[in-house]
Amino acid sequence: MRRIVLKVGSAVLTQDGELALGRLHNLVEFIFLLKEKFEVILVSSGAVAAGYSLLQLDETIIVNKQVLAALGQPLLLHTYINKFSKYNMLCSQILLGASIFKDSIRLNHAREAIEVMLKNHIVPIINENDVTETEELVFGDNDQLSAYVTNYFNADLLVILSDIDGYYNKNPHEFKDAKLQKIVNVIDKKQLEQNHSANNKFAKGGIVTKLKAADFLIKNNKNMFLSTGINLTYIREFLLDNKHNVGTLFTQKGK
Ligand code: ADP
Repeated sequence: MRRIVLKVGSAVLTQDGELALGRLHNLVEFIFLLKEKFEVILVSSGAVAAGYSLLQLDETIIVNKQVLAALGQPLLLHTYINKFSKYNMLCSQILLGASIFKDSIRLNHAREAIEVMLKNHIVPIINENDVTETEELVFGDNDQLSAYVTNYFNADLLVILSDIDGYYNKNPHEFKDAKLQKIVNVIDKKQLEQNHSANNKFAKGGIVTKLKAADFLIKNNKNMFLSTGINLTYIREFLLDNKHNVGTLFTQKGK
């Protein structure tokens, strides 16, 4: 069965400083539909926002952000467990740090565990372990973490669900004439060096970290699809009906 990684960002999972429960429910229902055709690994943001809904610490201070992530992660997982149980599905939590990808022994342990989870129809839910990672070692955003997960845990496609329906030739919030790019084969070096441009206070990456993720995957001969997670119609069409109407496919030329 084909293995894919779904990454859902804070922009989708958060609304007005709280978890967007309706969207989380739609996402879980979608994963239920996908399971006939795909093995799904979920990389989920949303822990900091979930923590903030419980206690409003100033999240611009790094240690507070780590505390909010630690406070919110169990609430996030609790919410997923509840939603998945409605579909008789199990999910698990894996907190990873960037350092694991440089350590073949730990990486193999994680790989073996994920294989067993997928064989047993458990949906692994991955997030970065914010509290224990030192600054030099963090990905700092789940876009790049999910690209590594795709590459090292034997998936061939990463789907990034964000609040935007794809990659535009310029920022669509600033330029009315920005055009959606349906297929991208090469990412310009200049694009990778732009400043980060996250769209809400819990988002970390913006488009740059998505482009870095895409660049890494293209170079490793894997694919990435950027789509909106606010409305799942387009990603459903792409994955279940093989129709590419809206969204950006990052792929090697000629593939
Ligand atoms: P997430 O929480 O899903 O990772 P982010 O807010 O970090 O979301 O990133 C998505 C945002 O990146 C979009 O909402 C948009 O405002 C911004 N963005 C900047 N430049 C572009 C571009 N060229 N194409 C698409 N989105 C862009």
